[in-house]
Amino acid sequence: MGEVLGFKRPRPSEKHRGKTLCRSNFHKWEVVKDKQFDVRQGRLITVLRCARCGEMKVKAT
Ligand SMILES: [Zn+2]
Repeated sequence: MGEVLGFKRPRPSEKHRGKTLCRSNFHKWEVVKDKQFDVRQGRLITVLRCARCGEMKVKAT
């Protein structure tokens, strides 16, 4: 008793807001390597990376 819980409100930082978007699958994709030849797939791919969370994905060109 005597302790007030929930008084301190966590302030969401810019970074946190971005990650919230990322979790909702709204990544900020940026091209890392455009039209790179993937030997395993035997075709051209584009490597994309999210500027916020750093997640990477590969898109077939
Ligand atoms: Zn992201």
